[in-house]
Amino acid sequence: MKIDLHTHSNASDGTDSPSELITNAIDAGINVLALTDHDTVAGWGEAEAALISHPEGAKLKLVLGSEISCQDRDGTSVHILGLLFDPNFEPLRQEMEKTRENRLTRMERIVARLNEAGIEITMAEVYAQKRDDATLGRPHLADALVARGHISNRDEAFTTYLHNGSKFYINHYSPSPMEAIRLIKAAGGVSIIAHPLASRSGRKVEPGIFAELIAAGLDGIEVHHRDNAEEEKSQLIEIAREHNLVVTGSSDYHGTGKMNRLAEFTTSLEEWERLEVRARERRVVSK
Ligand code: AMP
Ligand code: FE
Ligand code: FE
Ligand code: ZN
Repeated sequence: MKIDLHTHSNASDGTDSPSELITNAIDAGINVLALTDHDTVAGWGEAEAALISHPEGAKLKLVLGSEISCQDRDGTSVHILGLLFDPNFEPLRQEMEKTRENRLTRMERIVARLNEAGIEITMAEVYAQKRDDATLGRPHLADALVARGHISNRDEAFTTYLHNGSKFYINHYSPSPMEAIRLIKAAGGVSIIAHPLASRSGRKVEPGIFAELIAAGLDGIEVHHRDNAEEEKSQLIEIAREHNLVVTGSSDYHGTGKMNRLAEFTTSLEEWERLEVRARERRVVSK
């Protein structure tokens, strides 16, 4: 069984369309795939239709979700994966919309800072890098900088201008992780903290945060992920055991936008089954 519970399409900052993602997942031999675009459900319809019409669609079960951008009290970025929730639950829908809208003015401000430093780029060039309804993110700005010839790939954009510690960096609005967890639960879904310690990508939540997340209703911890270092994985497995949380693994695939390959890390069948029954309704999509 190959179970990959965290992937992106071009409904946010991935490069595959939802249909291409479904095809690529089937080709990679994946049995259960979660689509988790940043702060949106815009890719759900296309992914579901692609699964149903794919000749080998019966091989794959589709888990619809989203990766909610959150911010800890000290400003640390925390990503909460929500799976199997009701997309029409208004409070969650509105929260995602608020974040998506704020990402637009935030991008204008980052672009203005780059321009002040003599790096020429326009909002129109950034928008040209994304699908109309996609959640706007720094990777689209990275792609625009590449298209202009300022740099050669997304990774270089992040190591030079776009990393969180950069003088060009600006936050966007986002809810607290506790609020996101409560909303996902109220919408009938399950929540998992994504790449929690992730020292490898420069993010690090303080371990003390787990108590609050668990009190808010956290269901799982994404342990098996390329950004978690080995010693962090053992630490996270301990926390999961202690609090009866589900341990997940995923690729965090972004198409050609990142090195991450589909199913490079996975979730065990046992853990997936424990997670799925925590959702209020059976919402997994199958052909
Ligand atoms: P944003 O949501 O606009 O704050 O941008 C964050 C996104 O940038 C994350 O979801 C990652 O997918 C992406 N990202 C971060 N670092 C890199 C990198 N080095 N190369 C490619 N994408 C990255
Ligand atoms: Fe991303
Ligand atoms: Fe993430
Ligand atoms: Zn992700």
